[in-house]
Amino acid sequence: MRYPTLELHIAGRWWPKASGGERYVINPADGSPLAALPLAGPDELNLAAEAARRGMRVWRAASALERSQVLRRAADLMRERAADIAHVLTLEQGKPGAEAQREVRLSADILEFQAEEAKRLYGRSVAPRVPGVLTHSVLRQPVGPVAAFTAWNFPVNLPIRKLGSALAAGCSVVIKPAEETPASCMLIVRALLDAGVEPEALNMVCGVPADVSALLIDHPAIAKASFTGSVAVGKQLGERAARHVKRFTAELGGHAPVIVCADADIDAVLALAVPAKFRNAGQVCASPIRFYVARAQFARFADGMAQAARGLRLGPGLDPATQMGPLTHERRVEEMQRFVDDALGQGARLLCGGHRVERRGWFFEPTVLADVPADARALRDEPFGPIAIVQPYDTLDDAIAAANATRYGLAAYAFTRDLAVAHRLGDELEAGMVGINHFGVSQPELPFGGWKESGIGQEMGAEGLLHYTELKTVTVGAPT
Ligand code: NAD
Repeated sequence: MRYPTLELHIAGRWWPKASGGERYVINPADGSPLAALPLAGPDELNLAAEAARRGMRVWRAASALERSQVLRRAADLMRERAADIAHVLTLEQGKPGAEAQREVRLSADILEFQAEEAKRLYGRSVAPRVPGVLTHSVLRQPVGPVAAFTAWNFPVNLPIRKLGSALAAGCSVVIKPAEETPASCMLIVRALLDAGVEPEALNMVCGVPADVSALLIDHPAIAKASFTGSVAVGKQLGERAARHVKRFTAELGGHAPVIVCADADIDAVLALAVPAKFRNAGQVCASPIRFYVARAQFARFADGMAQAARGLRLGPGLDPATQMGPLTHERRVEEMQRFVDDALGQGARLLCGGHRVERRGWFFEPTVLADVPADARALRDEPFGPIAIVQPYDTLDDAIAAANATRYGLAAYAFTRDLAVAHRLGDELEAGMVGINHFGVSQPELPFGGWKESGIGQEMGAEGLLHYTELKTVTVGAPT
């Protein structure tokens, strides 16, 4: 499939042009332009918010069963179109084709799970304590039109988490995908509309990110904002939502530790850790970053990690032999270099990688740093790229303390054969998701969300839908 003509979806129709001008979407594998993206100005953004208000009335009036059926149909359409959507995803985002296919199929599974949950937004009946009062009902109702903002690292998965939950709960949406990767979102919006979602309930805009979010969060039609992206921007949007006491969900960055205990099978851990680390060139919020390894095993682990990283095959995502693609932006390549230079300047050891790859496109070598001092930026801020940090530890207490010594708290991992240690780590690691002996914490059925500065609220799982609802108590007395 060729890269599609880009359009916005506003007030029930597609817009090939808009008043905010346009910008080019670039293929990160070679720096070539893919297509012009129309940008919404204030007029179109106001139209989108008003359409979401009208569209919600229609969408909400459908029964939960009808909404569920429409969303299941959309999940099936995504599966039918998976090869095409994945191709477009790789073109604009860069990840290898097999990873893009997995992303699209997993996203269809997420949507299907949310469609099922649409039928299960149960309330409660509470026994009245006062004679003459007949019922107390605790209801869950859709929160209202949602403004959703997503990042470029998972251009299908991140939008579907928000669109699926919001629509399943009976809300309407105005979504702004990342301007770097708009076509993937456009294709899933198309699948949702083809399946029968009320057209005015599903709006997709692009523009100048700060202007779009300011206008939409302030707009009286919008009841909730949901954001995936960096901590810095998450704080700005959260503050803005708070001014209006609007509901806010945020999935922000992470800095996942991995504790590799002395009893772990190092070869088996490396076989899982290397693909987990360099998947999507490390541009994953739950990516393992800091490996704390028992001192007795440290040298073997560090050498094994560096050797495997050195052997990864870099290239364009559309080449089936590619194991790691480019970074999605040129600015991220420069940022990786700053992280590495800062760590080395403070005394870290470079075990492999550490440089931009001299070829077209935005490639950075898979990099392993060892003995990184606590003040280095790579330990304080999320690198969000192909950088692994390996550190030895002496006692489990030290490892847990180091793992928790961060303002982030999204995912944490550990490897051990000792059941008591596994339970202790599950209990003491400060993160929204803890994976023991594997990295698969992100599943449609499981709530995904961060502690500390990594976010507010969860996506996916039964809990994900609840963030798109409000509670209402209705109590009915006997007629007087
Ligand atoms: P960024 O925060 O500037 O951008 C992330 C996304 O937010 C982009 O899609 C961007 O268009 C959007 N955005 C930026 N400013 C916005 C605003 N004022 N209103 C609405 N949307 C806005 O970060 P970046 O430089 O693109 O990415 C780097 C950092 O973002 C990484 O270091 C990582 O910490 C974080 N990130 C996190 C996730 C995640 O899944 N949690 C995903 C992508 C990026």
